[in-house]
This record gives sequence, structure tokens and C-alpha cells, in this order.
Amino acid sequence: MTAAAPAREQWDDAAAAAGTRVLTPGVDTSHLGILYLDGISVSFDGFKALNDLSLIIDAGELRCVIGPNGAGKTTMMDVITGKTKPDAGTAFFGQTIDLTRLSEPEIAGAGIGRKFQKPTVFEQHTVYENLELALKADKRVWPTLTARLDGAARDHIAATLDTIKLLPEAGRPAGLLSHGQKQWLEIGMLLMQEPQLLLLDEPVAGMTDDETIRSAELFVSLAGTYTLIVVEHDMDFVARIAQRVTVLHEGGVLAEGSMDQIQQNEQVIEVFLGR
Ligand code: ADP
Ligand code: MG
Repeated sequence: MTAAAPAREQWDDAAAAAGTRVLTPGVDTSHLGILYLDGISVSFDGFKALNDLSLIIDAGELRCVIGPNGAGKTTMMDVITGKTKPDAGTAFFGQTIDLTRLSEPEIAGAGIGRKFQKPTVFEQHTVYENLELALKADKRVWPTLTARLDGAARDHIAATLDTIKLLPEAGRPAGLLSHGQKQWLEIGMLLMQEPQLLLLDEPVAGMTDDETIRSAELFVSLAGTYTLIVVEHDMDFVARIAQRVTVLHEGGVLAEGSMDQIQQNEQVIEVFLGR
């Protein structure tokens, strides 16, 4: 519950979540969690956007990250995906992949997928073609895909369409989808690359209530198979999907625990209500 920096022993003890997980070659999560941040600091012109941030995510977790504007949530995702290099600290993906030493494409290739707020689907292409293009864009897989594997690729697309609840829309141009459906399609495009860890920054912003509820169902269904880190302002949504919640404040972890624990935490109440 408290924001104590996770000790290495704690990391060693972190239990792997149950269930079948997507396993990227080289990402060893057999004993430890899937993501380990320790003492991460990022400064912009002397201002500390991240200040000694420490965080452990177990494989298969659905972790919600909340916090006021400017808390450092997006910067944290920038560090994990290699967009921003930290001034200090350790960032590991699995036991062996040092994220601070890899480029953005290398990190994506290692199995970390990120969804930005604005959907970037190919509007002229059908939903199906968008997923096909996402598969072809995966340089790790595509050169080895032969005619023999086309069936597997088709199965993968069909399974993904089912997961993101867009099977009935498969033949429609993506430009005709609702905002929420475009968001799900983009998540589907990420899934085509079989990431192990998915980072979602404010995924339900701008969605209708119905789309928000369907997104909650989607994320809960993805957890276990994938590991998800969801940054979101919509507290009703967070309450709907929450397992473990991390509260960021001024670049560090203020509190961590269940939704109930977070809501009863005095420091969290002070920060959110400004008391
Ligand atoms: P959040 O996503 O929690 O709202 P951010 O990670 O976007 O917070 O930002 C944390 C702080 O760092 C903010 O004060 C923001 O203005 C600052 N910041 C983020 N990115 C940059 C940047 N590229 N240059 C300067 N300041 C930045
Ligand atoms: Mg942000």
C-alpha cells in the first residue's frame, strides 16, 4: 500500500500471474515480474517529471495507473517504450532486457506495444486489411511467413477480430467506424504483433458510456494472456477493471493497492481533493 521502493528481493518474490501468456522469445518472466522500474528519474530543464520512480508489474497483470495531470504518467510510458531515456534508474523487461539500452523499434520488437490516445488506423482500408497491414508491418514475423503460414495468419486475424468484437465490421472501411471501434481496431493492430506488454494511455477518452463498458470487458479479457498498463482519468472505468492500482504524484509512486485501499488512502484523498 505504501509507496516504498520495491526491493530486489520483492522483485524476486513477485509471483507470476496464472493463465496462458503470450511469450516473446528472449523475455524471461519465469520467476520475476515482466516489468521492473527502479529509481527512474527524468528531468526536463531541471524539472523532475519522474523522480525516483519504482514499479514492478507481474506478468499477466492489468495495472491501472492514475494521478493528477502532470504526475508523470505519460513520461513513464515514454521511458518504458524508449521514447525518453531516463537520467537515472533501472528499467528491465523480464529479467534480461535492459530497456534503457534499446531504441524504440527494438523495444517494440521485444514485445512492448503502445497505444496512443489518437487512433491511427488506415481509414480507406477495411477493418480486415488494417489487421493484415499490422501483421505485415511486423518485421520479426513477416519475412518468415510463407504460403504455408497464410492460413495461420488468417486464423490470427479472425481470432483478433473476435477479440476486439469487430467481426461484423471486417469488410467495412475503418473510416466508417465509431470512435470507440477505431480504438479497438488499433488495439487489434497492436495484438497482431503479439506483444507481451500493452501500454494504453487514456484509452476510453472520448468514448460513449456503452463503448467504455465494452472497453472494460475487452481489457479484462486481455489480462492474463497479456500484461496491460492502463493510464486513465475516468474513475468509473478504473473501478470497473481495477486489480492493483498505482497512484503517481509528482513523478513518483504515492500509493499502490486495491481500488478500495486507494480510495481510503489519506494521501491520495489529499492529492485528488486538494485538501
Ligand atoms: P501526465 O501524463 O501524468 O499528465 P506527463 O508525463 O505528461 O504527465 O508530464 C509530467 C510533467 O513533465 C509535466 O509537468 C509536463 O509538463 C512535463 N513534461 C513532459 N514532457 C515534457 C517535455 N518533453 N518537455 C518539457 N516538459 C515535459
Ligand atoms: Mg498524460
